[in-house]
Amino acid sequence: MVDRPMVCLRLIACAFIGFLSLAGAGLEERTLAMQTNEDTISATGGDIRITPIVHASVQVEHAGKVIHIDPWSKGDYSKAKPADLILVTDIHGDHLDPAAIAKIRKPGTLIVAPAAVAAKLDGTTVLANGERKEVAGILIEAVPMYNLQRGPAAGQLYHTKGRGNGYILTLGGKRLYFSGDTECVPELKNLKNIDVAFMTMNLPYTMPPVEAAECVKAFKPKIVYPYHFRESKLEEFTSALKGQPIEVRIRNWYPAQASGGR
Ligand SMILES: [Zn+2]
Repeated sequence: MVDRPMVCLRLIACAFIGFLSLAGAGLEERTLAMQTNEDTISATGGDIRITPIVHASVQVEHAGKVIHIDPWSKGDYSKAKPADLILVTDIHGDHLDPAAIAKIRKPGTLIVAPAAVAAKLDGTTVLANGERKEVAGILIEAVPMYNLQRGPAAGQLYHTKGRGNGYILTLGGKRLYFSGDTECVPELKNLKNIDVAFMTMNLPYTMPPVEAAECVKAFKPKIVYPYHFRESKLEEFTSALKGQPIEVRIRNWYPAQASGGR
């Protein structure tokens, strides 16, 4: 004979244990996502996945395509996915690194870069400041990136106008902007409809966090990731943007082994 209250109790216990293990699995997933330093942005055709790698190096995935921006050997590429598209912003070693490109290249990988980079890298599609082009099925716009005042000596600039490219990528209806090494130039302030911005801030090569924040206020991206920031005080950036309808995402861009670069 079956004891009805006992069956009922057991069922409740089972259901509770089942719930606990489901909740546990969810927790495990969240922990893993944190460990891999990965974010998602909702977009048409599926989420955009963003993986900060190091300094100015980012892996972006959408609808089965993998894009790498400024791959650099100081980053850990052991879990990185082979690239359909690689964007290089400038000639400096923390942006143009043929060894890192070789690690994530596969047959058919397309590379987009400005002419100064293409001169050092075979098989590159050249995009000049202000140009836009569909490459690997992805719309890419090249935005000027340059210094207004900062350079290695009086009368010189670290980044001269026209040499490097920032980029806007359109993925699933979302516009993602990667600043490259720049100060707050007018072309940057005038950007429109940016959903996600990756903003540089490090001295002496680009600009300090407060200047970067003022710049971000001008073009108002929905989400901003400080990147290429080294030891900059990110709290200055965050507090300068307090009260703005802009989500600031602070992530770990400097795993222990990375050093050097500008
Ligand atoms: Zn740099």
